[in-house]
Amino acid sequence: MSLIITSPLRGWASALDSVPDPVFAQRMMGDGVAIQPLGDTVVAPFDGEVVTLHEAGHAVSLRSAEGAEVLIHIGLDTVMLKGNGFTPLVVTGQRVSRGDPLIRFDLDAVALAATSLITPVIVTNAESFAISRRTVDCAIGACEALMTLVPVQSETRRRSDDGTSVEQAVTLSLPHGIHARPAARIGEAARAFEADVHLVKGDKRGDARSTVALLALGTAFGDEVVVQARGDDAETALAAIVALLASDMGEGAPVAAPCLPAAATNRLRAGQIGGVIAAPGLAMGPAARLRQTEIAVAREGKGAAEERAALLAARNEVSAQIEARAEDASGGVASVMQAHLALIDDPELLAAAETRIVAGSSAGFAWRGAIHDQIDAIRATGNSHLIERIDDLVDIERQMLATLTGTALDGAAVPAGAIVVAEDLLPSQLVTLAAAKPAGICLARGGPTSHVAILCAGMGLPALVAMGEALDSIEDGAPLLLDAELGHVTIAPSLADNAAFTERLTKREARRTAAQAAAKDACHSADGTRIEIFANIGTAKDAALAAAQGAEGSGLVRSEFLFLDRETAPSEDEQHAAYQDIAETLAGKPVIVRLLDIGGDKPAAYIPIDAEENPALGQRGIRVALARPDLLETQIRAILRVRPGGQCKIMIPMVASVDELRQVRAIVERLRGEMAIAAPVEIGVMVETPAAAMTADLLAAEADFLSIGTNDLTQYVLAMDRGNPAVAAGVDAMHPAVLRMIGETCRLAAVHGRWVGVCGGLASDPAALPILVGLGVTELSAVPGFVAEAKQIVRGLTLVEARAHAKLALQCKSAAEVRALARAFEETR
Ligand code: PEP
Ligand code: MG
Repeated sequence: MSLIITSPLRGWASALDSVPDPVFAQRMMGDGVAIQPLGDTVVAPFDGEVVTLHEAGHAVSLRSAEGAEVLIHIGLDTVMLKGNGFTPLVVTGQRVSRGDPLIRFDLDAVALAATSLITPVIVTNAESFAISRRTVDCAIGACEALMTLVPVQSETRRRSDDGTSVEQAVTLSLPHGIHARPAARIGEAARAFEADVHLVKGDKRGDARSTVALLALGTAFGDEVVVQARGDDAETALAAIVALLASDMGEGAPVAAPCLPAAATNRLRAGQIGGVIAAPGLAMGPAARLRQTEIAVAREGKGAAEERAALLAARNEVSAQIEARAEDASGGVASVMQAHLALIDDPELLAAAETRIVAGSSAGFAWRGAIHDQIDAIRATGNSHLIERIDDLVDIERQMLATLTGTALDGAAVPAGAIVVAEDLLPSQLVTLAAAKPAGICLARGGPTSHVAILCAGMGLPALVAMGEALDSIEDGAPLLLDAELGHVTIAPSLADNAAFTERLTKREARRTAAQAAAKDACHSADGTRIEIFANIGTAKDAALAAAQGAEGSGLVRSEFLFLDRETAPSEDEQHAAYQDIAETLAGKPVIVRLLDIGGDKPAAYIPIDAEENPALGQRGIRVALARPDLLETQIRAILRVRPGGQCKIMIPMVASVDELRQVRAIVERLRGEMAIAAPVEIGVMVETPAAAMTADLLAAEADFLSIGTNDLTQYVLAMDRGNPAVAAGVDAMHPAVLRMIGETCRLAAVHGRWVGVCGGLASDPAALPILVGLGVTELSAVPGFVAEAKQIVRGLTLVEARAHAKLALQCKSAAEVRALARAFEETR
């Protein structure tokens, strides 16, 4: 008995040969007719059941009561649209009647985004049904006769119940799972063998020869699928299908690329608490709970003279302690200590305390009152960056009160190798407890850009922040696995968890040892591409540390280090001395000095900026510098004076348009002329705004290099304030949107042959390096302590595999998925 298939769409019917895709044109999936749609609703071509409905909503298949299976595939490459523009109107398993609407789609949007709108209507079980009549080369309305099918009495293929039976698991690297095109290829491959081949996913099993059965498996990228083959040539069939499934089948993923294992999704298990990665790394050890002890102070003083003397004595003592810490410190620790020294000498604070002492308060009570008035004033500004700095005020308060009352501060008693678990930490507490050599830090509060986070990163101390109240459930001494690569802590891990974690730690340790041994060697990828590993620094002390780690230069001198926490701007001579010192410390190596990056989260008292509703979108970086030519020109002169000429390059922060680069270049060239400096000076731009990333070709036409500031780029791409703890959990530079911006920057900059570096925090994240290199980044500027390891990671990569890995990362749906992918990649090393 014949079966009439009516058209599922209004449009123009044509032969499959007209479809510009060999899978359909060569009938790999089966015979049928193609329709160029003029309507926007796909309707049922016969009475039957919906067998598959792709999650992207672009393809549906139905089975008739007679057993005919028909696939309707709306457009070509529409799986990439990930559901955008498609509205499914049915669900799998639903019974439908001819003419019932199945999928509605946005004709214009899909036409713009897809390779073609042509919609193949395919009989996928061609071994059971042949087409006896078809309508082609004419206009057709929905529900008008399209094909007539007749059952075929095909000789039954010999199905071997005996013979070899083999099976193998494979993880799919197809970016969109098995959709129509890969299903056709698998079917074609399976038909070349005698053996029965089935694919199993979970509790679903499908014949590899049946497109519909394969689609019905509902697979996605990273799923584990078991291939089963039975028959005389089972082993060869199995090998062929497994190889096909492990490849990308031309869909954009690499052959034999590492792919997301089913178990590596980043969902939390019971016994795990998630957090925001403040400093990447792994740590294993017992919990050391730290609870802030309240320091009680007497309200009434013993007389103004005595209390004043006590306050000044305490101030001198605390000042000396901070200075001592600052002396041994570099990088972040040094800058926090500088900030604390400035606070403790703050004339307003001292005057406010003095007023309270005169009014009869004790020194401690007066100091506490003065600090809290300041805190209230900062809170009233509503500026989240300033609010984050309240920690420093509280820190100074505690240090002073501890000294005044003779109270020991918490932190010093943490056992070595423990994982510190606390509500929050003050910067000085962290510096103190770091001496006890803890293995890691877990904080209920805090944000990834707080001082504590920056300090942890600088110390190489793995840390998670913003972990919330769940952290209260961790008992003192509980065994913990801190995974600051995936962003969670595991409480009371199983033996298997411990073993797997230990193996990862051992690998890291081996990498660190190898890294140290080869720290001074130049960095090339395994296939010989030069990747420069630089360091981010603020001072000559940092430069020395970086050089000792093998830094091949500095990709970011944070010059604002010289400008912050002081009353007046540094003079040209002072700046010149600082830059010269750095240049000499990094003798012969490139030094990229970033122009003053003030505003937003980095306010300076002597650069008044009117209160702004959105400081991150206001007077920041080069906008401030261009508005203050006096400051900018002083700084540029100081840089130009550094000898040897040309060693120092200039980098412009927060660029949003070519015009800013032109203005800076004009100033540099004018000053070079005035100062009679012959050596040309390279000028690069930071890519921190989506505008800079998307116009990287325009910038590259005029800039000497581009360096991506992933900290700011992330906040602007994701529209999440980098300093706002409320959104801290989402601020992850591994978000595919940020990675795509980085990829675009590299692609566009290459048009003019300019190199692209990364100087934001992502360059110090071991999980990110293979992706960055794969995206085309050729310079990484990391925290000094990570330089040697960064070199070692790059040495272990070939560009081919890094590119393949990066391609997969761009297809991930979240930062968590990218991190899981990065972990899977690392496990293949
Ligand atoms: C960045 O934004 O990534 C960067 C390197 O600059 P900042 O000092 O703002 O972190
Ligand atoms: Mg920045």
